[in-house]
Amino acid sequence: MSAKVIDGVTIAATVRAEIEAEVRRLKAERGITPGLATVLVGDDPASATYVRNKRRACAEVGINSFGYELPVTATQDDLLCLLAELSARPDVHGILVQLPLPSHIDARRVLGAIPLHKDVDGFHPVNLGLLGVRGAQVPFAPCTPQACIELLERSGAQISGRRAVVLGRSTIVGLPVALMLLARDATVTICHSKTPNVAQVTRNADILIAAIGRPRFVTADMVKPDAVVIDVGINRVNDPGNPRGFRLVGDVDFDEVQEVAAAITPVPGGVGPMTIAMLLRNTLRAATNQHAGSA
Ligand code: NAP
Repeated sequence: MSAKVIDGVTIAATVRAEIEAEVRRLKAERGITPGLATVLVGDDPASATYVRNKRRACAEVGINSFGYELPVTATQDDLLCLLAELSARPDVHGILVQLPLPSHIDARRVLGAIPLHKDVDGFHPVNLGLLGVRGAQVPFAPCTPQACIELLERSGAQISGRRAVVLGRSTIVGLPVALMLLARDATVTICHSKTPNVAQVTRNADILIAAIGRPRFVTADMVKPDAVVIDVGINRVNDPGNPRGFRLVGDVDFDEVQEVAAAITPVPGGVGPMTIAMLLRNTLRAATNQHAGSA
């Protein structure tokens, strides 16, 4: 049996259409245009591409974006000064600092300097911490974990009462997505690089989320029949037949696993497009919240 492919491009397009309609309404009824500031430090080509894609997505739904680029030699104080300036601007409702930052900059310090109400990436330590507080309202959940949950929910997967296994415990993907599954009453296990016999754990998963950055790590024998598999990984593998010399694959061996699973996200075209849609949604929410109470 071949798994249902959870099409992130199509689901993200639906979410973006919902956001676009809401942005139009906000402009027409209240004269508010949501605004996102993006901050890129250094010249990493992958980061530049991510920022370009996010800004393009903003434009497509009518959100203003303001791009800031600092040289790799920028100091932590330069970055903190820029963040202070953006924090004070009323037309900037959300601030995104593209990660990773150069090694001489303390990312935790920088992310903590983004005001909570503008933290649309959801990486401020307080926003991340709230994910672990039972019953707490989390203003902004991080975008990739939110994308995983949204793909599960919009594709009709049940979370409550199911056994979920998350591969990876990073602060930006694995840990927050595990907490979000727990908040939705899944029974959650997290695996990391020191977990012995990962396959034994993953074979129990009704929901398997792979976020480790290892190309095609998850093979068919690691997956329970009828599991729902969400592949967060984005890995470059050499492909001489491709004009770019490489292609992108996930952390899951898609061809093998789709023969076993009930549903699976592809790479590309799964979690990636949904992640951007979640950023747009967070930015819209930030603008709405910041103007709540105004006419
Ligand atoms: P990361 O910070 O490098 O974390 C990787 C995690 O995987 C760590 O917790 C690590 O364990 C664990 N790990 C590594 N090898 C393992 C193994 N053999 N078995 C079990 N666990 C293992 O990576 P990340 O930022 O979370 O990103 C993970 C992947 O998602 C990457 O491919 C990245 O490109 C992709 N990504 C995609 C999106 C998107 O929008 N689609 C967004 C963000 C990231 P330790 O903690 O023990 O080291």
